[in-house]
Amino acid sequence: MMHPILLVTGGSRGIGAATAILGAARGYQVVITYLANKAAAETVVQTIQDAGGKALAVQADVGIEADVLRLFKTIDLQLGTITALANNAGMLEKQMRLDQMSVARWQRVLNANVIGSFLCAREAVLRMSTRHGGKGGAIVNLSSAASRIGSPNEFIDYAAAKGAVDSMTIGLAKEVATEGVRVNAVRPGLIYTDIHVSAGEPGRVERAKAGVPMQRGGTAEEVAEAVLWLLSDQASYVTGTLMDVTGGR
Ligand code: NAP
Repeated sequence: MMHPILLVTGGSRGIGAATAILGAARGYQVVITYLANKAAAETVVQTIQDAGGKALAVQADVGIEADVLRLFKTIDLQLGTITALANNAGMLEKQMRLDQMSVARWQRVLNANVIGSFLCAREAVLRMSTRHGGKGGAIVNLSSAASRIGSPNEFIDYAAAKGAVDSMTIGLAKEVATEGVRVNAVRPGLIYTDIHVSAGEPGRVERAKAGVPMQRGGTAEEVAEAVLWLLSDQASYVTGTLMDVTGGR
């Protein structure tokens, strides 16, 4: 059988990179996207190829419709029809109170995290759904424990964006449940990646880990395991689920 195609947005670093590498090891042909860090994306592609897998990196800002359309067209033409999407690209900005935030910031945060996830989900459903002639598939949205914690004094805008991702997961799962497409979300807690640098606190996981019942941060690989299980046929009766990967937080 042909190797199924997995798209991991934001696959150049962190959780996305771990998902891409583990996905390739599980037999997927992997497409990763990156925003600006081409060198990091090329390193992930090389790692997968060195292990005997197939991978392609495409530059695309998930918050820009033309970029997402070009991304999916590239996959259609170069590899074929995707059956798995890890809707992973996401970002946050410097920690601050809501009463200090600008409209421009809210537009950036909501655009990248919400519109970006919606755009990729739309293009995936148009290819996967039996309603559109597809052969089915699975989508996993990367949400965050922030959606239920709210992230006070840090990034309520990001938390709210992930709340929107949760709602989209629930609604879209029901919308396409009879069309061969499963939609779930993974909500990581405190994971060791560079996203905390964007928050202005590279040591955020170390500082906050005492509040985690398991008393430690998580690894990108631990999150990737959950994403790949939800994408797999082993999760064939699981849809509309928000799976926390938080060490109990
Ligand atoms: P990360 O280490 O900061 O990596 C972010 C990835 O997304 C990079 O590949 C980056 O590309 C890409 N990216 C950022 N903005 C993008 C855009 N507008 N369009 C396309 N790609 C974009 O992040 P991470 O910690 O692995 O997080 C991955 C996902 O998990 C995100 O959705 C995040 O919100 C979620 N999450 C993370 C944590 C955590 O503690 N780390 C917790 C909960 C949820 P470049 O390499 O080109 O910059």
